[in-house]
Amino acid sequence: MKHNFDVIVIGGGHAGVEAALAASRLGVEVCLVTHQIARIGEMSCNPAIGGLGKGHLVREIDALDGFMGRAADYSGIQFRLLNRRKGPAVQGPRTQADRALYREFAQNYLLDIENLNVLEGEVVDILSDDKGVTGVELADEQVLRSQQVILTTGTFLNGLIHIGEESRPGGRIGDKASTRLADRIYDLGLKIGRLKTGTPPRLDGKTIDWSVVETQAGDEDPTLFSFMSKGVIARQINCGVTHTNSRTHEIIEKNLAKSAMYGGHIEGTGPRYCPSIEDKVVRFSEKESHQIFLEPESLSDDRIYPNGISTSLPVDVQEAYVASIRGLENATILQPGYAIEYDYVDPRSLGTDLQLNNTPGLYLAGQINGTTGYEEAAAQGLVAGLNAARRSNSQEKLNFARSNSYIGVMIDDLITHGVTEPYRMFTSRAEYRLSLRADNADQRLTPTGIEVGCVGDERRKSFDKKMDLLESAASTLNQYSITPNEGRKQGLAMNQDGVRKTAMDLLTYKDVSFDDLITIWPGLAEIRPDIRFQLSCDARYSTYIERQKREIESLQKDEKTPIPNGFSYLDIPGLSKELQSKLELASPESLGQAGRIEGMTPAALTLILMRLKKLQSSEKSA
Ligand code: FAD
Repeated sequence: MKHNFDVIVIGGGHAGVEAALAASRLGVEVCLVTHQIARIGEMSCNPAIGGLGKGHLVREIDALDGFMGRAADYSGIQFRLLNRRKGPAVQGPRTQADRALYREFAQNYLLDIENLNVLEGEVVDILSDDKGVTGVELADEQVLRSQQVILTTGTFLNGLIHIGEESRPGGRIGDKASTRLADRIYDLGLKIGRLKTGTPPRLDGKTIDWSVVETQAGDEDPTLFSFMSKGVIARQINCGVTHTNSRTHEIIEKNLAKSAMYGGHIEGTGPRYCPSIEDKVVRFSEKESHQIFLEPESLSDDRIYPNGISTSLPVDVQEAYVASIRGLENATILQPGYAIEYDYVDPRSLGTDLQLNNTPGLYLAGQINGTTGYEEAAAQGLVAGLNAARRSNSQEKLNFARSNSYIGVMIDDLITHGVTEPYRMFTSRAEYRLSLRADNADQRLTPTGIEVGCVGDERRKSFDKKMDLLESAASTLNQYSITPNEGRKQGLAMNQDGVRKTAMDLLTYKDVSFDDLITIWPGLAEIRPDIRFQLSCDARYSTYIERQKREIESLQKDEKTPIPNGFSYLDIPGLSKELQSKLELASPESLGQAGRIEGMTPAALTLILMRLKKLQSSEKSA
């Protein structure tokens, strides 16, 4: 066994896997150390990848030849494109994944890479000298040397599991917490906070009455994650849908004091966007029922993940409220729901490459930085892995910008604003979201990946071919044109201005589809369907993107606009309740300051700006 590496990665979760693979793609010698090899690629909570904003991250990881998209396609048992009826910019590919297949794929993939060493063990110390990191020490006293170490310990640092009034140390169910390493992190003098998250009880599918619950099928034409995938692999399944009811809510309300979340046993802040069932019953007390998706966790067993009822109530209360739900009257709980509380490091101590400002060579990625979710973790792992490998080759940092990727948005958000609650990705966080689409992630990022060397030959060839096809298809479309008069005869709503329009121009029209063009010019049917789709998306947004750029430029000018003392956010229509309360609390003095409040979006800033302008004009006229 070697003891000297270019990059050491601690943790085999979603951040660790992507970090180790990214560094190894750059050709350096990598060692991944994790508690249990058999749990590499484990999905600690819901068996699903992607969704709104998160699906964009997966596509971006894939565009850089990362792992997550391929693993999701390999293990996906139900694919659904969220927001299908809305425009491509806010559509999010999602798949429910077979937990066992995902893990199997991750382990086989990692263990097959020559310059990637996988070691089972617990890291208890990070070694450093006055120049930065020098290696790690394992619980068995082995020392591994490297000047680049990536820490991706997820929910394990000082992890504390809560079920009702009971609590015990743990990184997640079935894993011990990392307490010795946590002490060492404290020694580094970093700002540490506490966060929490929860998971629902897992049910035995054999004991659910499927005949009385609704069925939800996947999409007929699955949208895959990887630009390299050709089709689904695993057998596809349906999910069930049921609902909580007044009896369920009554049981939960009566026992709130016993909940770890509500009984005062947890100090950390939880994810507002994934509320526990206790949270939902309290915060949305006017709602008579909440939807629950019954999601099979695997094709090879009967475990069901009831999405929507995460909890930290005692086991007997969980049994009682589960039994009050239609279809679950006789359901057996295989594993109780629980909450977990853990340490995170304030990400404001990191640079754009996710390296700690005060400890050269030490990188942090994933949940340890205050995020939640596999996709957020994986994307950070990719950034840290690429940068750590580049550092070991004495190369410049690789930065991702808000204008080219969701990855850039997330890193900028984390390192500039920090977090007050677990951070997850949403499309609304990206001001350039019309250009940062899931469909064009390869066009945005693969060229960078090719340049830095993290994209393999197979993908490079496939990407180059796609770009050639796009270019030649666009030039074909530019050769066909039509007068407004001819267009009207074809049923197209064209301006009767006498100006000929090319097929490419027509494609920018909201009401014109590629199929319409084929009706007029049947020869266009020879263009490959994926190229038609891509051209349509690119064309559809081209005019909006120009407008968006101008809006952002003018918003940047308005940054210095003062906000008067006592300005009220409570009655600004369209501003979410969450932002209203954050703004009321922070009372920013300028629009720029308001813009830096966590969760602020360009759309919300525009609403505030409009209100300020209205206020100014009414003051002038008074
Ligand atoms: P993890 O996937 O947790 O991986 C950490 C890895 O580090 C593990 O392999 C562990 O063995 C290893 N490790 C830790 N310490 C050491 C050490 N000292 N030495 C060696 N190896 C070590 N996300 C959502 O999006 N929605 C949810 O609703 C949600 N709920 C969750 C509920 C629970 C109970 C838990 C535990 C997690 C939940 N998550 C949820 C979060 C999701 O699981 C994480 O965001 C994601 O797994 C984080 O990835 P990661 O790579 O940062 O860490």
